[in-house]
Amino acid sequence: MIYTDETQRGCVQDVSATNTVNNDILVDGLYDASFVGGVEETNILCVGSRFEDSSSFKQAIRSNAILQNFAIRIKASDKSRVIATCTYRGCPWRIRASLCSDGHSFEVRKLLSTHLCPGVNRAGNKQATSSWIAHEIQDIVKRNPDVTPKDIGNNLETTFGLSLPYMKIWRSRELAREQMFGSVDDNYKWVPTLRSELLNRNPGSHITYQCDKQNGSFKRFFVSFKVCIDGFLAGCRYLIGIDACHLKSKYLGVLLSANSLDGNNGLFNIAFAVAESESKKSWEWFLMNLSQSFDVHIEHLAFISDMEKGLGEAIKTVFPHAEHRVCMRHLWKNLKAANCYSSHEFNSKLQQIFNINPQVHSYLTSLSYKWSKATFSNHIRNHYNTNNMDESFNSWVEEARSKPVVDLIDMIRGMLMEQRAHRKSNAVSWRGPLVPCVDEYIRDVTTRKEHFIIRQSTATKAEVEGLSERHEVDIENHTCTCGFWQISGLPCKHVAAFVGSKHHTLWHTYVDELYYSYRYVVLLH
Ligand SMILES: [Zn+2]
Ligand SMILES: [Zn+2]
Repeated sequence: MIYTDETQRGCVQDVSATNTVNNDILVDGLYDASFVGGVEETNILCVGSRFEDSSSFKQAIRSNAILQNFAIRIKASDKSRVIATCTYRGCPWRIRASLCSDGHSFEVRKLLSTHLCPGVNRAGNKQATSSWIAHEIQDIVKRNPDVTPKDIGNNLETTFGLSLPYMKIWRSRELAREQMFGSVDDNYKWVPTLRSELLNRNPGSHITYQCDKQNGSFKRFFVSFKVCIDGFLAGCRYLIGIDACHLKSKYLGVLLSANSLDGNNGLFNIAFAVAESESKKSWEWFLMNLSQSFDVHIEHLAFISDMEKGLGEAIKTVFPHAEHRVCMRHLWKNLKAANCYSSHEFNSKLQQIFNINPQVHSYLTSLSYKWSKATFSNHIRNHYNTNNMDESFNSWVEEARSKPVVDLIDMIRGMLMEQRAHRKSNAVSWRGPLVPCVDEYIRDVTTRKEHFIIRQSTATKAEVEGLSERHEVDIENHTCTCGFWQISGLPCKHVAAFVGSKHHTLWHTYVDELYYSYRYVVLLH
């Protein structure tokens, strides 16, 4: 219901151009038709204003709030009255409208029009819900159902000063169409449109979907944004957590995800997908798409997962050379052999298991998964044998999981983009060569009270002996016989003891480059 001038109702496309020369912006639907005035008037709602029904009254007060930069809350709404207040505690602004005798109109009966609140910054963005926008743009969409979100956005910007995300406008347009042209049976009709919209906004991304061959119904949707793939390849450690969780919407499928950790141990999503269920087939489809989105061969790649149905086989099929770690969080959490780094220690722990129970021993050694840190590749620079990544991804997207598929995907997209922006602005203040979480690790490992005897054999080698252990440290080759340095890319306590004794303070030279601040910044671009 936005137009710039009565004479221009037919040419919405020109709105942004004409508005610059025409200040006479009228906002229809804000008040009773008999009320004459522009939006510059601060008090566009007044006692006696009448509205078609309660929902057009609510639409009007929301528009009013957006224009004046404050936020409202509907305090009460029933058949006979609607009461709204300012969300700011203590602000007296308040409006009350009641049902008229015709049985549908609402009339403003009480209005305290003064705000004593500081107002809200760009309140409009939050107040402008999809349904409010949909209602506001109905006229535009009616005249031109194919009006672009960009034109709608320009229009909302000139009229309300709103700067809204593209996808939100797009969704609102769908909603407006639905309200006008009859609702669609379900959300899936928009799946192909969603794909092309996402691709338009994120060129170079890998986004695909699958429909059922027999009845054409929606089956799967895969999303991997270019920025995520590029970031993963540029600055993450190549350990990918794979997991599935159930969706709670009408579409009772699963959300599959592939996550990694950035240098600062932040969760870094690489790809996610909606699929009908967890099976070897759906995992294979997911991993095939994941490998296609990489577009390059990754020499050293590792996956970590629970023992998901069909996933192990699917990884073997699609990534035959990748290491597959099984998450030890739930399985044998206390198994000491899983948490040692050196093969010497690992073998002696295995021997102990054999002595206690040969059957458990033969089971453990027959597994095709990797489960002990001692057997992990030295190229991954990540020593984790628990998959906390996916657990945190699943809870991060908790709210989205109950949304219809299109909304779910768009919501995760929005969250990912917000997260990137947030991390970017955070990293600006980093001064040191290392990312903060590694700085902290170094501080911790270099200030421990543990006592070691150091026997230096050459300028770069030493034997470091603690209370119950003795290890060889080789600073030149970045190794310690305890194995931690090689597997994690971070100096172990033995290295810290040796280097500390030499009064060498350039700690970052002992840390893998993946933990450097500059690499982290690269990953976000
Ligand atoms: Zn207020
Ligand atoms: Zn060590």
